[in-house]
Amino acid sequence: MTQNGHGRVTIVGGGLAGLASATYLARAGHHVTLCEKASTLGGRAATHEHKGYLFNVGPHALYRKAEAAAVLDELGVRFSGKSPTASGGFALDRGTKHALPGGFVSLLTTGLFGVSAKIETARVLATLQKVDTAAWADVTVRDWTEREIQHPDLRRLLLGLFRLTTYGNDPDLQSAGAAIRQLQLALSANVTYLDGGWQTLIDGLRVQAETAGVDLRLGRGVSHIERDCTVRLRDGSTLEAEAVVIAASPDLAADLVVDGRATVLGQYADDAVPARAACLDIALATLPVPRATFALGIDQPLYFSVHSASAKLAPAGGALVHVARYLGARKSEDPHATERELERVLDLVQPGWQAQVVDRRFLPAMTVTHGVPTAKNGGLAGRPAPAIPELPGIYLAGDWVGNEGALADASLASARCAAALIGAQLRTSAAA
Ligand SMILES: Cc1cc2nc3c(=O)[nH]c(=O)nc-3n(C[C@H](O)[C@H](O)[C@H](O)COP(=O)(O)OP(=O)(O)OC[C@H]3O[C@@H](n4cnc5c(N)ncnc54)[C@H](O)[C@@H]3O)c2cc1C
Repeated sequence: MTQNGHGRVTIVGGGLAGLASATYLARAGHHVTLCEKASTLGGRAATHEHKGYLFNVGPHALYRKAEAAAVLDELGVRFSGKSPTASGGFALDRGTKHALPGGFVSLLTTGLFGVSAKIETARVLATLQKVDTAAWADVTVRDWTEREIQHPDLRRLLLGLFRLTTYGNDPDLQSAGAAIRQLQLALSANVTYLDGGWQTLIDGLRVQAETAGVDLRLGRGVSHIERDCTVRLRDGSTLEAEAVVIAASPDLAADLVVDGRATVLGQYADDAVPARAACLDIALATLPVPRATFALGIDQPLYFSVHSASAKLAPAGGALVHVARYLGARKSEDPHATERELERVLDLVQPGWQAQVVDRRFLPAMTVTHGVPTAKNGGLAGRPAPAIPELPGIYLAGDWVGNEGALADASLASARCAAALIGAQLRTSAAA
């Protein structure tokens, strides 16, 4: 390490979190090496192109006014796209389509529920922004809906909206405070579907990382990390550093660090509640029903959205559609049956879709986030911090780390936080 506090840092993982923390650290003057086991960057934020259609890894939407957008702006990563509109969307209940109550008109006209539920829905939607989410951090989503919502039909709608905004489907575990915060974010500022897919974020971060001087090593899997921050790669080489950021899953963090399972990392891995989803990603030559662009399951944890209706993801006339089932922490018990179920959603919303298929991909159990905030751990505040006092020099970043945001917002916020903490650590050791 140099006297001005500039040191060497190794980053494990080349997804959003790894690239962002690497860029912050390199901009601060540190010598940064990023190791990614795959031959390409991006992790779960990568986009795959086929015949002019751009496939994100399942449905991806960026919260417009949350931590990820702030970090990307700070790092100079630009993107474009549009917000999907809920108007004209469907609520799917017991095999029937209803107007999704997203606004005043759809609330009046929907056949999803009767007058008393409509009156309570109008009241709850009007006051939701004022709910103090911290006060509900250690209460489960199920308990909140049972205590605060009178009408069972509105409870079902809210559980559907929580699934949509958090990707979680474990209301008996999920923190109500964290889930309400996601719904507040979605209702107040919406999300953006990105032109070119989430790969534009990865490409933008790569440019910023390289410009800042990050040494990007692709196809270089890490096999383990010594307690003194020496990183050993699968090819037998080693990297010495003063600090390491593990920007990957809780299981990987526990397994990579030597004897990590015996440390607090083992507990983090055991405690983490993932949110998984079965995703059917489909490219269509044309959309049979152009106005039917969004549907949310009410009795079943299902999702349908035509992402190309809001973002440039398909060639002229074509459509890129995402259909998903929220699995919660479980894996799909019968992937074949789940895929058929997702096809039935398409049958209901886009009859005639089969004849238009250009390409399709079924992902039976993607981990959307490794760390759903739970009521037991006090919501966002209970997630592991980026610094690990028991393992000085080793830091964490990812969607299961830190007390800010969910999903990609948590990945990027924890990446920024880990970089700031490392900067402080290296300055302190230089001064000592
Ligand atoms: C289906 C789906 C839908 C989603 N929708 C949304 C959404 O709408 N909104 C939202 O905000 N977020 C969404 N997400 C979540 C978002 O994609 C992730 O939170 C984010 O991409 C995670 O980035 P990361 O860098 O933390 O982790 P990852 O992307 O998982 O990156 C970890 C990287 O580490 C690498 N790695 C693993 N092991 C090693 C090793 N031994 N050595 C070196 N490298 C290694 C991996 O190859 C990977 O590239 C979704 C995710 C999925 C799967």
